[in-house]
Amino acid sequence: MSEATPVRHELKLTNTLSRERETFLPEDPENVRMYVCGPTVYDYAHIGNARPVVVFDVLFRLLRHLYGEDHVTYVRNITDVDDKINARAAEEGVSIRDLTERTAAQFHADMHALGALDPTVEPRATEHIDDMKAMIETLVEKGNAYVAEEHVLFDVSSMAEYGELSGRSIEDMKAGARVEVAPYKKGPMDFVLWKPSKEGEPGWPSPCGIEAPGRPGWHIECSAMAGKHLGKTFDIHGGGLDLTFPHHENELAQSRCSHDTQIMARYWLHNGFLQVEGEKMSKSLGNFFTVHELLDTDKVGGRKWPGHTIRLVLLMTQYRQPLDFTEKSLVEADKLLDRWAELMKMNEASLDFGRNPPDEILTAVCDDLNTPRAIAAIHGFAREARKGDFSAAQKLTDALEFLGFAPAVMLTRMQKTEIASAADPALSARVEGMIAERLAARAAKDWAEADRIRDELASEGILLKDYKDKETGEPKTTWEVSR
Ligand code: AMP
Ligand code: ZN
Repeated sequence: MSEATPVRHELKLTNTLSRERETFLPEDPENVRMYVCGPTVYDYAHIGNARPVVVFDVLFRLLRHLYGEDHVTYVRNITDVDDKINARAAEEGVSIRDLTERTAAQFHADMHALGALDPTVEPRATEHIDDMKAMIETLVEKGNAYVAEEHVLFDVSSMAEYGELSGRSIEDMKAGARVEVAPYKKGPMDFVLWKPSKEGEPGWPSPCGIEAPGRPGWHIECSAMAGKHLGKTFDIHGGGLDLTFPHHENELAQSRCSHDTQIMARYWLHNGFLQVEGEKMSKSLGNFFTVHELLDTDKVGGRKWPGHTIRLVLLMTQYRQPLDFTEKSLVEADKLLDRWAELMKMNEASLDFGRNPPDEILTAVCDDLNTPRAIAAIHGFAREARKGDFSAAQKLTDALEFLGFAPAVMLTRMQKTEIASAADPALSARVEGMIAERLAARAAKDWAEADRIRDELASEGILLKDYKDKETGEPKTTWEVSR
């Protein structure tokens, strides 16, 4: 007799490289490997930066479920050497190290608040300078890069497939490029691997016999860190759509040429852009919001927003679609989470945590991370749970937990009743008394009286919620003070 094997959900992902939806097949199911470009740490993360973090967090959770927690390596770097960092540190009159440490710590706090797990490895660029230099030397030896005026440049004409990821020919790129072409470049699209450091800028001994100290270009940082922590080739490379060209195109060229491989990553995933209230987010339009401002200030909608609420807004749109971040969507997500938390609270004593996600949720996220469909399934669970179906409340909890809405955090949302009772015992006693009268009226089928009591309390801003005790089937009522 053979044992029933659990259904392995087939994961479909849209691959920017092939421009097609493909079935995900890892190189080594024992070690599934994903790299996502992380933040350049010079300023608070804005809400657009949070989108790839939350999207790839869902994918990380899904891969861990499909392949096992110990069989997934997720690398997300920290770029802590960059022109923007140098400029900001000078502006603020602080050391580069102080600026990057402070910004990285804030990034971690913000992303934890959004429910994102830490990646398996979080390499810092400044701790991988030797790996970058070694890669640069290899590229020069292989004839893919050259030294010119203390710079090392990648020779784009040395790679026939350059442009394969973004789907551009070198001719298109030249036509589209508005960059001033430095005189020492052989070709206009050649890009920097290493450049000299000016006085006062961070610098390291240069590779390739260059005497002046220098520093790496941005693209080589990711190629070196991905190579070091994931190997010459790996499964998934992710980031926002804007990184496709030139950043990812250049990473791919560097890694393939230095490692002599046909690919860098098997699947390239790009999240769509986020805009705010229908407009591109920009400081000059005044619609630029950092995650910190949403969490800890009342800049948007006159209140602070829980991290879960922001997370839900980010997941209400499928990751490849453009996302319109609005105050209305925050209000809507917040109400939904309150309602779901209430259902969890009603069933709290019997709920189990840490279980597998329901099938409906797995099917949805395995379909190119269709989180809106997963959320629609949660609505269905909530509807059944509201009618007193305990198994639906358990599924709702499992689904939320799997999508990164930790039950412990969910359950703290619904303390309004407890807070009101503690703050005003007399009010609490009166409301409880009226609830008892109303339950008696309902038992006697005196609906008019039951409604009168409900309306009287509603006029004071106290909302009643009816449910059935799932063990005894008896009607019960909870209450809360509406905001
Ligand atoms: P950066 O610090 O600019 O390199 O961006 C960090 C990450 O955030 C990258 O993956 C970007 O593609 C992504 N990103 C930046 N702005 C947005 C936006 N408005 N919407 C979605 N993703 C964004
Ligand atoms: Zn990168």
